[in-house]
Amino acid sequence: MKNIIVLSLISILLWGSGCTEQNKLSVPSLSPNPTDNSQELSVEPTAIPLPSATPAPIVTQVTLGAVGDILIHNRVYEDAKKPDGSYSFNKMFTLVKDILQKPDILVANQESMTGGTELGLSSYPMFNSPHEIGDALKDAGVDFVTMANNHTMDKKEKGILSALAYWDKIGMPHTGAYKSQADRDTIRTMTQNDITFSFLAYTYGTNGIPVPKDKPYLVNLIQEDLMKKDIERAKKLGDVTVVSLHWGIEYQIEPNAEQLRIAKLLADWGVDIIIGTHPHVLQPSAWIKNASGHKTFVMYSLGNFISAQSELLQWIGGMGTITIVKTQVGDKSTIDLVQPTFTPTFTYSKKYKGFQIIPMAQLDNQHLANAKQQLYKTKLHMRKYIPDLIYP
Ligand SMILES: [Zn+2]
Repeated sequence: MKNIIVLSLISILLWGSGCTEQNKLSVPSLSPNPTDNSQELSVEPTAIPLPSATPAPIVTQVTLGAVGDILIHNRVYEDAKKPDGSYSFNKMFTLVKDILQKPDILVANQESMTGGTELGLSSYPMFNSPHEIGDALKDAGVDFVTMANNHTMDKKEKGILSALAYWDKIGMPHTGAYKSQADRDTIRTMTQNDITFSFLAYTYGTNGIPVPKDKPYLVNLIQEDLMKKDIERAKKLGDVTVVSLHWGIEYQIEPNAEQLRIAKLLADWGVDIIIGTHPHVLQPSAWIKNASGHKTFVMYSLGNFISAQSELLQWIGGMGTITIVKTQVGDKSTIDLVQPTFTPTFTYSKKYKGFQIIPMAQLDNQHLANAKQQLYKTKLHMRKYIPDLIYP
């Protein structure tokens, strides 16, 4: 159970505004009396004003975290295979578990569908992953999974249905891929500390595997009219709208023009938080302020959280967090996003065996050559647009 932090409960007792005026009127006046040497002060009795009862502001906060792509190549699931033929990925998350437990709500992007062994496991280019990765994510502290990816259709409808059934079985909320139109039209929400989050997820495409025309609900695509309508509904359902986007160009360390355009669009529509995945490398986070002053926090790309890709930048990922502060006065509430953080992580393996996700701050040169320098470069990169980005 994660900590529930109630910032403060402040009672402000406002004195009636008449108070000052009343005092002015009853300022003791000197009334000199020529027949009397003594000067009397004539003081009008003043009523002591009672504090007027205004609603006390109630301030609560939630920290929302996100990690990037969970991309289960064959080398990863082979490493997770136990002598009895079952799979356990839990040990791969041991060293980041403390970090993953910190946010009140943690979102992960399950890039490879978890269709389970019954459908035959597979790797790139058409993935199918063991259900058990779900157990490991849940055990590690993940609270919500997004499923709109370019690999969502890899095992077609049966892969999606098997994955959905398993997430439901272990009690892991999810969005982005669905079993029916009614399922797609049900916006997922989560409430913590009196702050309600609405979650949406979309992908740029499905690697050329067509989404069946009669089942467009299977996976959410980035379609502006669809997103706009969903976002309008999501905003009515919750205090905070979170949109996960599988977008961008693989291996590019900066958002491209299309990401910038869509992010601005979503900011204009009042989305609060954008969680970006797909490029397999980190792209810096940023703030976007829209014309009405609303601020959107955009994590353009969180990189791979776990994969068996082969390049340095594909091994570096991490957890981004943002703290949401809700101030409620009477029936009016305001939301502030504060304290953006990033914790860089690294997928370590020895020749693709013994996979471990390790906080970069804990790496030594045996894990990664020039580990400290790589950490420094990563921090510098992620701070590019938010100079005061916090590294916890
Ligand atoms: Zn992808």
